[in-house]
Amino acid sequence: MIPPGETIGILGGGQLGRMLAMAAARLGYRVHIFAPESDSIAADVAAQFTCAEWSDAAAMAAFAADCAVVTYEFENVPVGPLKALGQTLLLPNSGALEVAQDRLNEKRFVTQLGGRPAPFAAVDTAEDLAQALATIGAPGILKTRRDGYDGKGQWRIMADHDADGVVLTGQPLVYEGFVRFAGEFSVILCRAQDGEIVFWDSAENVHKGGILDRSTVPAGAEIASQVPAARELAAKVTAALNYVGVLTLEFFATADGPVFNEMAPRVHNSGHWTIEGALTSQFENHIRAICGLPLGDPALAAQGVEMWNLIGDEAHDWAPILSDPRNHLHLYGKAAARPGRKMGHVTRLTL
Ligand code: AMP
Repeated sequence: MIPPGETIGILGGGQLGRMLAMAAARLGYRVHIFAPESDSIAADVAAQFTCAEWSDAAAMAAFAADCAVVTYEFENVPVGPLKALGQTLLLPNSGALEVAQDRLNEKRFVTQLGGRPAPFAAVDTAEDLAQALATIGAPGILKTRRDGYDGKGQWRIMADHDADGVVLTGQPLVYEGFVRFAGEFSVILCRAQDGEIVFWDSAENVHKGGILDRSTVPAGAEIASQVPAARELAAKVTAALNYVGVLTLEFFATADGPVFNEMAPRVHNSGHWTIEGALTSQFENHIRAICGLPLGDPALAAQGVEMWNLIGDEAHDWAPILSDPRNHLHLYGKAAARPGRKMGHVTRLTL
């Protein structure tokens, strides 16, 4: 067990790191952020900050020497440089990162465990794309295998001829069939070091332009009926990866049951509602799990919860948002409100 007072290292300097750091501080831990960007909003609320490239082995080793455990808030941390962490605990382990960093590996991995993604095919060349369209058909979505997030690195192909305009840059891609869904939902769980798993209620998620717009709990009946099968798959993923901490799997609820979309080996935007809406938040339980503490109760703290994101300029509306006393406002402290950038979120409970 890593007792309060010790230092927790977090790889990545964004809002997820910031909320993890705040939960860790509440439990009496010190947090040390490692991130390449100098304007880290996680470092703003942490005791210590190493601003260095991922590949800076000396900086990574010094960071490791200061930390009792290291976790990550960002799944695209390159795995190679993490060797410099030496004997310092990395939780979740790097195997989870390796699977989740590559959409193709992730789909294959989940398929082996009995999960069902949308029909998919690897695309490296124009011939691969033609072949994928011939077997899977349009509409579909072409996605980069690596480094995509919030709808970035995705091209919708509504008809076969749309593929003519796609310029393949040599980047490995995956083509997947378009899923007709009744709704989208996420399974967020936390697994302790002894294998105990707790699940938060599954939120119904609505995306706009590939970015999460709103999460609502409880989800509708159509989603609720698909949650048990989705949880079963998520639990299998944790066992296969010997996973410790919070894990998120996103699903489409379809007429044929849950279709796996993607996984994130970390706390997730669709779980931000748990800060006020659950007895224990995803952030706190992640810290508890990686430190070997008992997990807290994930049960709903209200009849219902609504969380919506503040994207770009929407964050400037903080004053009217605060004028409604039911709203819990979270601003991430980002300097520039660029379009499509997650600047904050609002949570509202139904009591
Ligand atoms: P992703 O980054 O892959 O999670 O994609 C972002 C959002 O785009 C998803 O949450 C869906 O709303 C939509 N989307 C992605 N892939 C598909 C698909 N194969 N079929 C239908 N909608 C999709």
